[in-house]
Amino acid sequence: MKIAIIGAGAMGSLYGGYLSRTEEEVYLVDIWKEQVDEINSHGLSIQEKEGEILLHPKAFMNPEEIGTVDLAIVFVKSFLTSIAMEKNVALLGPDTIVMSLQNGYGNIDQIAEHVKRSNIIAGTTAHGASLLSPGHIRHAGSGDTHIGWVSNDDEGRINEIAGILRRAGFATEVSANVMELVWSKLIVNVGINALTAVLRVKNGELIRMDETKDLMRMAVLEAVEVAFAAGVKFDAEKMVRKVMGIAFATGENSSSMLQDILNKRKTEIDAINGAIVEEGVKHSIGTPVNSVLTKLVRALEKRP
Ligand code: NAD
Repeated sequence: MKIAIIGAGAMGSLYGGYLSRTEEEVYLVDIWKEQVDEINSHGLSIQEKEGEILLHPKAFMNPEEIGTVDLAIVFVKSFLTSIAMEKNVALLGPDTIVMSLQNGYGNIDQIAEHVKRSNIIAGTTAHGASLLSPGHIRHAGSGDTHIGWVSNDDEGRINEIAGILRRAGFATEVSANVMELVWSKLIVNVGINALTAVLRVKNGELIRMDETKDLMRMAVLEAVEVAFAAGVKFDAEKMVRKVMGIAFATGENSSSMLQDILNKRKTEIDAINGAIVEEGVKHSIGTPVNSVLTKLVRALEKRP
């Protein structure tokens, strides 16, 4: 299968790097010249717990040099999904499947502006990665990848893709209810990311204080209500326990939003807590806690 990764940052390099070890034809695409040049000249170095591995995927800045692919995996930040699809239209043919394992809400709709909904696979990944320097990433944590069609029931095609991911080393499950997956991961991020960024604390700190536990709970309950209005039902108390459990289990991690604030980068707040506010307005549901968290993070982004 001819596969392109759109966005060869931390996660795109991880998935693209591992996929390049299979028999598939794999291309990384990024607008970041240093990253592309370094990968092509010295390889992609992945820092694993067991040590460093060096892989040699091919990286490109110009998608026209690659042409249309069978599968495009999108790994840009959620606020760049639409523009990245537009800039990489040369990769997309009528049968190209586009897969998003990004965080946040709204990626599917942005992808659907460029390809048929029946060609979109969405999902979640529990892997974590961070960029160390051009051509060099750290594989910070492992876990399952879940994928599912947004609007299709071609089991053969999605099982083929799951098989490729498994051969690359990603434990992968196919799900028939992809929106539940996307919402579930979104609600975890809603409960953890903004609070850690505002308070500048690691995930585990959130469950050590009654005040932060209360805020997490309120943000999560708002999101569960909005998810229900959008057609995805969760047991609210179970979801609160799940989010707190993940904050505990990842206690020593700094969320991506905290890292973005500390590194003065734009965050994915609009696709996380901001998306709850926006969807809440559509369904006439008040989301005051998520609204405050969204405004606080936007204000932090504006600080010099
Ligand atoms: P990143 O910033 O490390 O990588 C994004 C890459 O996209 C960058 O290299 C950037 O140059 C590139 N890019 C931007 N515009 C582009 C374009 N038009 N064409 C091609 N490339 C373009 O981000 P990341 O941490 O890898 O996260 C990507 C997505 O995965 C986000 O939605 C994030 O929430 C999600 N995610 C990240 C992790 C993690 O541990 N990092 C874990 C799970 C999910």
